[in-house]
Amino acid sequence: MAQSKQQTVDLFRELTEGLPRQGPGSTEGTLRALAMVAGLPPKPRILDVGCGCGAQTINLARATGGDIVALDRSRRFLSEVVDRATAAGVADQITVVCQSMFQMDFRDEEFDLVWSEGAIYIMGFAEGLSRCHRYLKPGGSIVVSELSWLTENPPAAARDFWATNYPQMQTLEANQQIAFEAGYIDVQTFTLPVGEWWANYYGPAETRLLEVRARHADDRDTVKRIDEIAREYDLFREHSDAYGYVFYIMTKPHAPR
Ligand code: SAH
Repeated sequence: MAQSKQQTVDLFRELTEGLPRQGPGSTEGTLRALAMVAGLPPKPRILDVGCGCGAQTINLARATGGDIVALDRSRRFLSEVVDRATAAGVADQITVVCQSMFQMDFRDEEFDLVWSEGAIYIMGFAEGLSRCHRYLKPGGSIVVSELSWLTENPPAAARDFWATNYPQMQTLEANQQIAFEAGYIDVQTFTLPVGEWWANYYGPAETRLLEVRARHADDRDTVKRIDEIAREYDLFREHSDAYGYVFYIMTKPHAPR
């Protein structure tokens, strides 16, 4: 029997509620990328696209003292952002916006910095970089993290899995070229260490998955879907040298290229 949309939403909620992040990342990764941004003014104005429950949002607020617009289409995640920001004492720096990233309508050149961890893929790497370009001040920067091939010849198991699950995935080098074509310069990169995937994302998500699986053990369809999700973790255990989460740090030039 086909799963109803409501069942899908409920399962997603069970699998994600209260987890530290919705994508691979870490405080160290966010701060390392931030340190690579050149020429950030004091109290910068920042747009965080696809902020999720706000792990990186809080860190950016603390580290920069700036004002952040945290955008996500999920009200549930945004209310987690507000709770976390309040607990961290940075709530007055953060404005949450419940909107699709496809419908952003900010003013041109409104932001010093656009940030998107684990979410630019939703628009597509190339389209996302292009869409964000206009919102940046000249000399401003954009930082995104994106699942990327780290080799030209990935093992078949990894290639086949991602051909189904994220066929648009590019190599790090191809993405650097895409960034350049989208109008950015000074493209810098680093790859998130494997341990940081497990510590904050796959680890807690896998633990939750096993709990939810046990709770639904007599529901064959749900167990099947959960086992499909679990394949992603097993694949990464074996092939984390072939692909990873890469941070791309790039700048909008003062004059168009
Ligand atoms: N940056 C966070 C979340 C990444 S997961 C982190 O690293 O933990 C991707 C996020 O994009 C989710 O929070 C999801 O709700 C959001 N999202 C998905 N589609 C979206 C859309 N069309 N517009 C805005 N946000 C979207």
